[in-house]
Amino acid sequence: MSADFAALLQTIAAEVTALPPEGDVADYIPALARVAPDQFGIAVATVDGRLFRTGAADTPFSIQSISKLFALALALQREGDALWRRVGREPSGTPFNSLVLLERERGIPRNPFVNAGALVITDVLCRRFLQPERAVLEFVHRLLGRTSVGIDADVARSERRHSDRNAAIAHFMRSFGNLQAEVGAVLDAYCAHCAIAMSCAELAEAALFLAADGRQPGGARVLDAADARRLNALMLTCGAYDAAGDFAFRIGLPTKTGVGGGILAIVPGRLSVCAWSPRLDANGNSVAAAEALERFAAAAGVSIFG
Ligand code: GLN
Repeated sequence: MSADFAALLQTIAAEVTALPPEGDVADYIPALARVAPDQFGIAVATVDGRLFRTGAADTPFSIQSISKLFALALALQREGDALWRRVGREPSGTPFNSLVLLERERGIPRNPFVNAGALVITDVLCRRFLQPERAVLEFVHRLLGRTSVGIDADVARSERRHSDRNAAIAHFMRSFGNLQAEVGAVLDAYCAHCAIAMSCAELAEAALFLAADGRQPGGARVLDAADARRLNALMLTCGAYDAAGDFAFRIGLPTKTGVGGGILAIVPGRLSVCAWSPRLDANGNSVAAAEALERFAAAAGVSIFG
C-alpha cells in the first residue's frame, strides 16, 4: 500500500499559499488573463489506486501545453518510431514559442513539447483523424474512464484569434516540407486540444499510465513500456522548456508544464502528481506549482535522483 500523502499535501498547500504571490497569469491568450490568479490545488494519484487532493484540486483549468503529452502519446500509438523522423528529442534551451532554431535545423523542431514540435504532432493527428482535437479529448476520456472532461471553446477561440506566432512557426515548417495539412487546420486542432479543461485530480489520474510502464490502472495498455519510459525522459529534459535543467535540479522528476498554471509530474513506478496555480514566471511555468512540487519531491523522498 502506498504512503498516505493527505497530511503532506495539506502542509504543502498551507506553506505555498502563505508565500507572497509571485508572477502573472498568461495574458497573450486573452481568455486566460481572466482567471483568478491566486488559486492553488494539488493532487496525487498512486499506481495502487489511491487519490489524495487538497485546495482547488477539483477546479478545472486550461491544461494548455500539458495537452502536448496526450497528443504525443496518441501520435506515438498510431505512428510509432516513424514520428522521430519529423521531430527531435533534445532540449531547445529556448522559449516554448521560439522560432530561432527552426531555420538552422531545416524545419525539424528540437522536441515534441516546444510549440513547433507540438504543431508537427498535431499535423500527424490531422492526417490520422477527421477531428484531431476530438481524438485527443477521447483519448483523455479513455485514460480517465469517464467523459467528464471537455474543451473550453472560449479559450480555444481566444488563442486561435491570437495565433500569429504559432501560424508563423507552422508556415515556416511547411516551407521545409515538415507540415502536411493546411496550416489553418493544424492551428484549429492545436488551439482546441490546448484548451482542454481539467482539474489537478483529473490530470494526475489520466497520466498514471506514465508511472505504470504504459498501462492504465485497470491494466489496459496505452503505450509499450519503452515508449512510456521515453516519454518520461522527454518530460525530464524538455517538459519545462528552457527551465528543464532548473526543474531537474529542484524537483528531480519528469514534468510537463502549461501556461494555464498546471504542472504534472511523474514518479515512475509509484505515482503522478499535479499542482496548479495560475501565476507564471518568465518561462511560462507556474511559480507556486513548481514550489509545491519541489517541496513534495523532497518531503516524500521521490526524486528519481535519490
Ligand atoms: N497553447 C499555448 C501556446 O501555443 C501553449 C503554451 C504553453 O502552455 N506553454 O502558446
